Amino acid sequence: MKGKIVKIYGRYYSVNSNDKIYPSFLKGSIRRDERNKKYSDPAAVGDFVEIELNADGTASIAEILPRKNMFSRRDGTSPKEDVIAANIDLIVAVQCFGFPAFNPRFVDRLAVRAMMDKIPLVLCMNKSDLSDNYTVKYVNDYYKKADIQIVHVSATKGKGMSKFKKLLKGKITIFAGYSGVGKSSILNALFPEAELRTSLVSESTGKGRHTTTNVEMIFIDENTALIDTPGIREFGLPEMEPEELSKYFHEFETEERKCKFFPCTHDHEPNCEVKARVDLGEISEGRYISYLNILESLRYNKDNKY
Ligand code: GDP
Ligand code: ZN
Repeated sequence: MKGKIVKIYGRYYSVNSNDKIYPSFLKGSIRRDERNKKYSDPAAVGDFVEIELNADGTASIAEILPRKNMFSRRDGTSPKEDVIAANIDLIVAVQCFGFPAFNPRFVDRLAVRAMMDKIPLVLCMNKSDLSDNYTVKYVNDYYKKADIQIVHVSATKGKGMSKFKKLLKGKITIFAGYSGVGKSSILNALFPEAELRTSLVSESTGKGRHTTTNVEMIFIDENTALIDTPGIREFGLPEMEPEELSKYFHEFETEERKCKFFPCTHDHEPNCEVKARVDLGEISEGRYISYLNILESLRYNKDNKY
């Protein structure tokens, strides 16, 4: 029978098949499969699976069907990839005005990972009631040509929420942001009927952990679902060649980019067009520094493999 993983709790999976939930386990053959060894867990929330029913009402996951996309990160210091969810439509990176301070480095990493699998990312700026012109301008300038949509909301004042809600309709969305930005306030304001606070995996269980052991998909209606990501503070990118990184910085890639060197990492190479455009103010300097920062970590990971 075909089904979909809607919740993972340790090594236990909830699979929805024909609107029935089956407590399920992964067959050993899936764990042993060489192709799955690069993941900390071969199955993820959002995966379509083939299950076999057991006499005691549980099910065995016999096959994970091909994914349309996935959102993953590096699993702590191990070289494994930690798949947060599969087959998703949108990623919302939640940040806010006021406290905790806007952290574009975190958003940029999420955006690179999203773009690797062609998943759209929206930056949700919460606490717009605390916004000031300087920060608004800073955020807008920073992402000026980055192809990242920015939405301003205030969960507690109810501002911008109905427009934001429309954006989520009919999609499976991952919410990412560290605690304090107002993720729970947003989700509760958007979907008070879903009792998210109690049903979402508690933030404390994700604390200090690198693997996303516990993830749940909350259905708002048949086609709309949310996936919360508790405990995501640091976001390590999966393995990538450093030369590839600039592909995921949309504003760096003009059609006829004229860097002298190819490939160019836009870092130490002379006659680099990206650097020239940073100097001209066409590319945000903050975004460029953030790029260099990620480039450095990719190089570090490459040099320190195993
Ligand atoms: P979470 O940790 O991301 O789930 O954040 P919470 O939803 O618990 O919110 C953290 C704090 O920010 C709480 O004190 C909220 O009342 C506050 N907060 C949330 N949304 C807003 C907002 O739109 N404006 C203001 N001023 N405060 C907010
Ligand atoms: Zn260059």
